[in-house]
Amino acid sequence: MSLLSRIEQQLATQRGAGRWRSVTPRQQGQGRYLVAGNQRWLNFASNDYLGLANHPKVRQAVADAAQQYGVGSGGSALITGYHTLHQALVDRLIELTGKPRVLLFGSGFSANQGVLTSLLQQGDLIVQDKLNHASLIDAGLHSAATSARFRHNDVNSAKRQLSRQASGKLLVTESVFSMDGDKAPLNQLALASQQHDALFMVDDAHGIGVIGEEGLGATSVEPSIDIYMATFGKALGVGGAMIACDQHIADYLTQFCRHYIYTTSLPPALAAGVSAAIDCMAAEPEHRERLLARIEQFRQLAKAAQLPLLASQTAIQPVLVAGAERVTSVAAQLQQAGIACGAIRAPTVKAGDERLRITISASHTEQDIETCVAAVARALETTQEQNQ
Ligand SMILES: *Cc1c(COP(=O)(O)O)cnc(C)c1O
Repeated sequence: MSLLSRIEQQLATQRGAGRWRSVTPRQQGQGRYLVAGNQRWLNFASNDYLGLANHPKVRQAVADAAQQYGVGSGGSALITGYHTLHQALVDRLIELTGKPRVLLFGSGFSANQGVLTSLLQQGDLIVQDKLNHASLIDAGLHSAATSARFRHNDVNSAKRQLSRQASGKLLVTESVFSMDGDKAPLNQLALASQQHDALFMVDDAHGIGVIGEEGLGATSVEPSIDIYMATFGKALGVGGAMIACDQHIADYLTQFCRHYIYTTSLPPALAAGVSAAIDCMAAEPEHRERLLARIEQFRQLAKAAQLPLLASQTAIQPVLVAGAERVTSVAAQLQQAGIACGAIRAPTVKAGDERLRITISASHTEQDIETCVAAVARALETTQEQNQ
């Protein structure tokens, strides 16, 4: 079969299975409202958990830096693309994470790929939580190492996988799982890694800004993380990512990580934006306090309305709606009711585990949360009736 006919066939299968993906242009995708065309919806679909993507100080920092220094970095970090604004951000992140070194990456996806594919070699073992993000699972498969997965948040299962070989091991988990919103047992996994002579890596994409002391993320929950990855595109409201680690690992990545070496560095103005976002997070704890209050409010109202929640204490609040068609129909009804949230289907989650992915933000008001829960309860009732 020719390549083109195979592509056509795969597209037909995808469409037939109700898994078609496409993009929609929007005037605003973060903040309290999602805006597209001349319509707006309450936004329960974005990862801008602290509402920093629209914070005046963050916007100003990016605008000022772009005015002063221009936009693009002009090169890779190792050639000409490492700006004093990058260094200022790195210094800030070293302070925040308590790790000796920080490297900046264009995205969390590329940071995860870069670390796993460069650090691990043939004969090594990478042990991951079954529910780890695609960027980690795929990076494990692309690396020359053997990949093993353990049962979700099951420390004994992780230990069994770590026992498969004596050395050359890395254990990696998310701190807050992107589709379930639950937290990993970081302290126990760190201990298991030490006991089995493995490096411990944590992906804090959904943790930074939200969990830990003052929202400082996974490093404030568990200090002995060897490789810490966090993205700047979620609670920090900007974009880009970091790896925080010790001297040797940072030096190694600088020599051998192709995703660090062969790519244009983050625009310096964005680095200034991330620094401003971190300043806001530290100086204005009210954003996180409001987020935590809205999460609590959402959970209480949702429990009272008997919505099928998962055990998540974080900004990610999934509502289980089994069946690709049913979850799509519930999300469509919510959209009509002025609420935007994600309808998550296979292959992102297992078939049968379909869900609405509702994300709470500091930008929401108490009234917004009430509106959301009432609309979800109504949409679930309506589809149940239709199915009977
Ligand atoms: C979003 C996400 C990433 C990718 O980060 P980007 O900066 O968006 O590329 C990696 N890991 C997890 C768990 C994520 O949720």
